[in-house]
Amino acid sequence: MPQASTLALVLSSSPLHEQDKLVTLLTAERGLMKAVAPGAAKIKNRFGSLLELFSEGEFHYYWHEDKELVILSKGEIKKSFFTMVSAAENVFYFYLMAEVVLKFIPPNHHDTRIYKLLMAILQGREKKLAVDWLLLYFLVWFLRSEGLLFNPDRCSNCQSHGFDRGWLRSDYRGLLCPLCKTNERQSLGREELAFISWTVNHSPEDAGAWSGRFAPAPLIRTMVGKIEYHGEFSLQSRRYLPEFR
Ligand SMILES: [Zn+2]
Repeated sequence: MPQASTLALVLSSSPLHEQDKLVTLLTAERGLMKAVAPGAAKIKNRFGSLLELFSEGEFHYYWHEDKELVILSKGEIKKSFFTMVSAAENVFYFYLMAEVVLKFIPPNHHDTRIYKLLMAILQGREKKLAVDWLLLYFLVWFLRSEGLLFNPDRCSNCQSHGFDRGWLRSDYRGLLCPLCKTNERQSLGREELAFISWTVNHSPEDAGAWSGRFAPAPLIRTMVGKIEYHGEFSLQSRRYLPEFR
């Protein structure tokens, strides 16, 4: 079997058979990759901490064109985020981000932006930025990179702009201004709309500038609802977040 290697982040890892693990990697260049790590469930194994959630590493593997699963042979860890990711105040936020990517991104999706986005979020949290603001930044950019984000500056019916509150259409595909709204239930205020526009030209490291200007929880719920609507699934890990209790 041919051999190759890739830079990737670990998004999930679960036991397979008695001694192996099934791992899903988000590669830097080629989207998601499912891999078997032989012997990885043994206490002493060649992978060490490489297969922990959100470890970034260079993974070497064997592949076969007829098979979806590749077989990991070895790897070198480049950066471990596990201590930070697994801390009680962070872990469910990172589970949710991993679940969004795992459920939404199809195989052979070769966009490189989600990888860069997750790396920027991980680095932002290492710099002690608030995890709820980072999650919100992630959700907004995830939808934007999938081509699903509504225009936060324009009414999708009359094309007006400059309104103080926009109502989200029930199919999540556009905003309605105060004059065009009918019975839509979800609405976004001026600061929330401004935040969505602001993310276009700012990195997650700047997200701290928004702390206190509005509470992120309602917009987090709206963005998660939008992802679930478009993906036609529900996200299991959201129920552990304070934003959804
Ligand atoms: Zn309108």
